[in-house]
Amino acid sequence: MQRGATTPDARSAAGAVARLKMNSVLMKTAELTKLLWRAVNESDEAPLTEAEQWLYTEIHVAVMTYEDFVLLGQLPRERRCMICGVPVSRCCC
Ligand SMILES: [Zn+2]
Repeated sequence: MQRGATTPDARSAAGAVARLKMNSVLMKTAELTKLLWRAVNESDEAPLTEAEQWLYTEIHVAVMTYEDFVLLGQLPRERRCMICGVPVSRCCC
């Protein structure tokens, strides 16, 4: 037998190990996903800190600015209201 060649038994054993590893990875991913969702759901019930509110506001403004940039092809001259979406100079909120 050539060096490095595998027998059918070795191949099936290697396949079983590969399947086991894949199952392990999938299981870990599923467990991790479950764990992350639990953390997200638990944090949903907790009040936001001032820093978190600031962060989410900045992300919201950045996403709106990006949308405007895509539509206009350049940075908008004016920020839009986060409630009604019109430029802040024309906002009546
Ligand atoms: Zn407004």
